This record gives sequence, C-alpha cells and structure tokens, in this order.
Amino acid sequence: MSYIPAFMRRRAKNYLLRTLPEYGYELVSVRDRNPWLVGNQQKDDLIICNFCGTIFRRSGNDHPEGLNCIHCDTIARERVAFQCILDEVGKRTGTNSLFFRRAAQLKPFTMLECSPRHNQNRREIYEETLGKYYASDFDMMAHMADIKLDLTSDEDVQPFMQAFDIILCAHVLEHIPDYRKALINLRTMLSPDGFLVLQVPLLENAYVPVTWDEFHQDNTRVFHRFGFDLINDLKQIFNQVTPVVGLLDFHITSPEIKPEKYLALQHMREQVVVFGESKLRCNGFGNPDLCDAFIAYK
Ligand SMILES: [Zn+2]
Repeated sequence: MSYIPAFMRRRAKNYLLRTLPEYGYELVSVRDRNPWLVGNQQKDDLIICNFCGTIFRRSGNDHPEGLNCIHCDTIARERVAFQCILDEVGKRTGTNSLFFRRAAQLKPFTMLECSPRHNQNRREIYEETLGKYYASDFDMMAHMADIKLDLTSDEDVQPFMQAFDIILCAHVLEHIPDYRKALINLRTMLSPDGFLVLQVPLLENAYVPVTWDEFHQDNTRVFHRFGFDLINDLKQIFNQVTPVVGLLDFHITSPEIKPEKYLALQHMREQVVVFGESKLRCNGFGNPDLCDAFIAYK
C-alpha cells in the first residue's frame, strides 16, 4: 500500500462524508492505480464494485442477475466471477486488489471472455487494465464481440491454442449441446499456466438434460441443467478444479433451486472456496444460492 499524505486523507474523508454520509471512510490509497479509494463497509446498503471500484447503493433484490453497478453495469454473478479472477491472480502474484480496474498485476495477462454482456465503461476498463482482452461470441448476433468462436468448432479454436491466460466463460455452457467438447476446447485455448473461470446456473442436485423447450432472455436454447456433479466432467478434462461458493452451510430459499444442491460438495468440503457473509454483502454477490463458480487450471 502506498503512503497517503494527511491532507489527502482529510480531503477524501470530507468528500466521502458529503457524498456518502453513512459510509466508513478508511482511505487505503489514492495513487493512480488500484486500489484508489476504499472505505470500511458500515452499512449493508452500500456495495463496492470489485470490477470498477465504484461504491453504490444497494437497490432491488439480491438476485444474481441484479444489483447492477451504476458505473460498469456488472451484476451480482459477474462480480462473483471477477472475484475469482482477482483471488486467483492475487495468489499467483502475491498482490491482492480490491477491484479489477487498473490492478497492476493484471497487466501481463491476455483474457478471453465468452459472450459477455456488453458495457462501454466495462470494455474500457478491460482495455486499460489487461495486456489484451478479447470478447468472443458463437454467432456474433446477440453479443458484441471481437472474435467469432464456436467453442465446439476445432477450426474456430485452432488459431487460439494456448492463447489466453484467463478465460471467463459464464452462462454459456448450458446452451451448448456438446458441452464436454466445449470444455476440452476451452482447455486447449488456455496458456500453460492459464485458468478458466466457469459459471453455469447450478440449479439441480445433479445433472438433468433439458428435453423440454427452455430459453434464456437472449433467445438461446438451454440444453442442460447442471448440478455440482459437473465437477466430475471438469476433473476429467482439467488438472486442478476448485469449486467456489458464496456460503456452504445455509438454507436455500429460491424455489427454482433444489434445496440439496450443495450436498454434492460435502465429501470435498476442504477443496471448496467459500466467500463468506461479509464478502457477499460488501461486493454485492447476491443471494448465495446462485453465487457459484469453478476455477480450472490446465
Ligand atoms: Zn462497477
């Protein structure tokens, strides 16, 4: 952490007092890099966006598709994925950042994001923070992307062999009929030390093939409903797989989620990364019953 002169601490404190009176104001750093300006969370209604660093008021319900950041529009489940990236890079570099924007340790990395929700502010942050950032999409229709990439097409994947240090693939796999093939190709595109952050809606106790008509908002068909047993597929393809959850021991309240979905993790509890209550609240990760991800190393 860099040193902050007293007058700057005072100035920032006064500014925060004026703009966010209920906010605790412990200033950590104001250098032109991450972290800039950080406070202690005192009340539950403020969220620190772990992508852009903006502090905003909690509004709406705790749905994983909600709690949108007022600057970069990240939603709760996206911040879960960003936290996975920050924690993983933190472990490797020994430098932890509170948010993604201008985190110096991210500069050497090339990142691929599959079918992201586009936001201009977010795009700019990716570009100023990472060495290189690519957004891909299956057909370039529903998402703004740099490269067309069908994850099951060897031809599409071939030019990107070992090209990416970080791949973020969120809410894509459930739309791909041959999802195992997609996982193999994701591994192929990882650099030797690269890692994948994978998110799928984990609704079930165990895998259920979708044989009925099910579509998500962007009109893409859903072929699979996953449970944590997806880890068995992942472990066949990747060397090291870590499940990440918001909480492990709690009562699931969402009606669309099977109440026993975390049972599949009971026998591997010590391998599971748990964010915990305070991180869930401070970073606005949403309701813990869908606050999940997998981190996989080649
Ligand atoms: Zn943000």
